[in-house]
Amino acid sequence: MTSPRSRVFVTRRIFPEAEDLISDAAEMEVWPDESPPSPEMLREKIAGVDGVLTNIMDRVDAGLLQAAGRLKVVSQLGVGVDNVDVAEATQRGVLVGNTPGVLAKATADIGFALLMSAARRVGESERWLRGGNWRIQYHPMFWLGQDIHGSTLGIIGMGQIGLEMARRARGFDMRVLYYSRTRKPDVEAELSTEFVGLDRLLAESDFVSLHVPLTPETRHFIGEQELRQMKPSAILINVARGAVVDQTALYSALKDGLIRAAGIDVTDPEPIPTGDPLLTLDNLVVTPHIGSASMDARRETCLLAARNLVAGIEGRRLDACANPQIYNALGI
Ligand code: NAP
Repeated sequence: MTSPRSRVFVTRRIFPEAEDLISDAAEMEVWPDESPPSPEMLREKIAGVDGVLTNIMDRVDAGLLQAAGRLKVVSQLGVGVDNVDVAEATQRGVLVGNTPGVLAKATADIGFALLMSAARRVGESERWLRGGNWRIQYHPMFWLGQDIHGSTLGIIGMGQIGLEMARRARGFDMRVLYYSRTRKPDVEAELSTEFVGLDRLLAESDFVSLHVPLTPETRHFIGEQELRQMKPSAILINVARGAVVDQTALYSALKDGLIRAAGIDVTDPEPIPTGDPLLTLDNLVVTPHIGSASMDARRETCLLAARNLVAGIEGRRLDACANPQIYNALGI
């Protein structure tokens, strides 16, 4: 007699090839709606499965993990796992997968797009043009922006996406400073980046770009004090998580000219409410969390999350795991 197949729940539709990979290995239920399942529904669904494939909209907290009797793996579609209580999962022997690497280049592309757009006022001037304001053909003093080449980029968090930002900056003849938890001699050798303290990075950078995960230590990492340390001509880029920046302080800094502009792909909360005062500012470029949303990056991300899910239910090591310290206890 064959043993019963594992059961999994996938909280949103994903690329068909990734769904196929999962359904070959398990009984799969996919949440069909564009909106996420409610917390109650997610709890109900997770209660009876061996694995779940989640994304940043799904809160996997301690209560939900406690109610999940046979859960072996939470496979997160994304590199950040701030929506998952990883400590509780670890204590319960539940593997947490994530998807680093495959989306780093695509996310850095958006980081650079925001940087260029904020510096050269792309969004602002396009809104002006579409608003029917372009009446004088050309004026030498119109729409002056900030040079990107020759400027200084300060990267906070030199991980996979930070590294890709540094690589792009090199092509633009930028000087690159970085601050991270750990010094990276290999990155310094490859890209002539300079490891500096946070104070110096904030004071010297023309662009400050955030690439740390959201953790208790990095929540509101950039607040009023840090914004005051930046040059009045500086531009802040955030493609990490909205809550890494104190958004109220950012609004005041942009409005009062403490810094020149900001380009953000992430907000706190998401979606940003339509009445949020940030949206009234012309010196803000904002996109709806599209960092990793290129076709190829998203396909690879879905496939990696699917492989992690299948490995977890089959009792194998994951391709990428946020709590590998439990492998020994699980005997894998
Ligand atoms: P990663 O490779 O893990 O890099 C994160 C870096 O931040 C690491 O270098 C890390 O430490 C450093 N760091 C962590 N805590 C720190 C602290 N308190 N102070 C200073 N540095 C600290 O992750 P990644 O792939 O680059 O992704 C970074 C984040 O981007 C993710 O966690 C996610 O939230 C966000 N993200 C957003 C999008 C989007 O669509 N906008 C897409 C993907 C990811 P070390 O210096 O010790 O290495």
